[in-house]
This record gives sequence, C-alpha cells and structure tokens, in this order.
Amino acid sequence: MCYAAYRGRVGYNPERTPEPDLQRNQHFFIKAHISARFDIITHCVVKSSQMVFSYYKRLTASQKHVYDKSDKETSVKIPNASELYPLVNALETALKKEDRGEIEMFSQKLISALTYRLKAPAIKVKVLAVRPHNSRGELHGLYNPSERLPAMITLWMRTAQQKRVVAFKTFLRTLLHEMCHHLDYEYFGFPYSFHTEGFYKRESSLFHQLMDR
Ligand SMILES: [Zn+2]
Repeated sequence: MCYAAYRGRVGYNPERTPEPDLQRNQHFFIKAHISARFDIITHCVVKSSQMVFSYYKRLTASQKHVYDKSDKETSVKIPNASELYPLVNALETALKKEDRGEIEMFSQKLISALTYRLKAPAIKVKVLAVRPHNSRGELHGLYNPSERLPAMITLWMRTAQQKRVVAFKTFLRTLLHEMCHHLDYEYFGFPYSFHTEGFYKRESSLFHQLMDR
C-alpha cells in the first residue's frame, strides 16, 4: 500500500529530496512505488480463488470492502482516446530531447485531457530531474491528494544511478499509475486508494488505449 491510500494525512513535500533513511510512512509509499511490481505482487495470498496482496489481511473491515471494490474495477474507458495520440507522441519526443520543460508541459496536457474526458477534477503535474533514492531503490512517482488545491503528480525524468532519461513507456506508465490514485478518489469515489490487482489492470487499460497509436 502506498501513502496515497491515506488521503491528506501525510505532509510530504516533493520539492525536497527525501532523506536516505525515510520516515516510516514515506517508506511505506516509497516501497510501494519502487517495488510494487516485483515485491508486493510476489507476496500474494489466495482469497476465495482470487489473488490479493499480502497486506490485505492487515486491513480493517471497511478497508477490505474498499479493496474488494477496487479489485473488481479492471478498466477505465477513455472517450475518443485516439484524439490524444498527438499528445502521446509529443511527450515521447520531449523525452528523447531530454527537455524537462517540454516533458512537464506535455505530461500536464495529457493528464488535463484525460481528466477532462473522464470528468474528474484537474491535477497539476510537476516533472523534476533525478529520482530520489535510498538503499532500497528509486522513487518513480508521487501522488499528493488535496482537499483544496488541485491534486499533484510529481515525476522524475532521470534514473538515480545512471542519471539517464527514463524510458518513455516507463515514464508514461508511472504518470498513469499516479493518475489512477487520483481516479480512485475522484472518479470511483473510493475513500482509500490501494494497489490491488484491479488497480494495475486499470493502469494497463489506460496505457494500452494511449499506446495503440
Ligand atoms: Zn501507487
């Protein structure tokens, strides 16, 4: 589970690089985002023929209810997705040019177009240079929900170790992953945003609609 699951409770400032030894709640978040695909997924348990992540058993009854609902939602349909292909292409080009300003601008335009089509509240997107990291790995992206201001997605365009620009597909997936946390709260109306199998399927459904160019 990442800290996005605890809406509004964590005062993390993405402008500041996290300390190498992260605070407990940040660590939770960092861990989820660094290793979600190969750590949490490898620690699944079977619940009535359905795969669930191992943290499920630590959830309260109401959280389990939200988790189960999240698991059942496996796609998000983007109306007229093909109209967004030029923005996807422009983002790919900006990454190739390693132009931080353009990457941020086209990430913002893409997310704004998506939230507009899905009738979800706006999100502000910020792209920073090198991923923060610690001994456990690198932070790929961050979602900061907000009750008053627009929610914010922060992404990093360069890997921590080699300082290389992140591969386009990885960057786009991370951007959509963070937007999926936003959609959990603002589109599906979940009080928590959990990394469920359904969550990753929703991320994939958005990704493939945009990549079928
Ligand atoms: Zn996440």
